[in-house]
Amino acid sequence: MADRPLRLGDVLDDYCPRCRLLLNHDVASLAGAEVARTTCRTCFDTHDYRHGQKPQRRGGRRKEEPKDLVAQVLAGLPLPPPAPPPAPEPEPAVADLRERAAPTVHRRGNLWAELERIRKK
Ligand SMILES: [Zn+2]
Repeated sequence: MADRPLRLGDVLDDYCPRCRLLLNHDVASLAGAEVARTTCRTCFDTHDYRHGQKPQRRGGRRKEEPKDLVAQVLAGLPLPPPAPPPAPEPEPAVADLRERAAPTVHRRGNLWAELERIRKK
């Protein structure tokens, strides 16, 4: 393979952004002697040639940004937002929900659990 330059239709390894795996690709277009675009042989998605490199930036940012956003939101909200009353009857249930949601960090999960508990009643 290294003896001759790559041509259209040649098979090479590349990272497929759709499959999110390093897979066999066909050379779909060339820019001079360089591979410009490749077609995944598994999902047939044509994309820019990524030189077989998995993108690292997105994963790193994804892990960092939510923490920052959560920290910002938690800093800006000293009190939990008041839950809208779902029905005229469950007044004590809403108060109960506020008490339980306030001290914990994972408010969203607890809110959904509380909502399901209210629905079952
Ligand atoms: Zn693919």
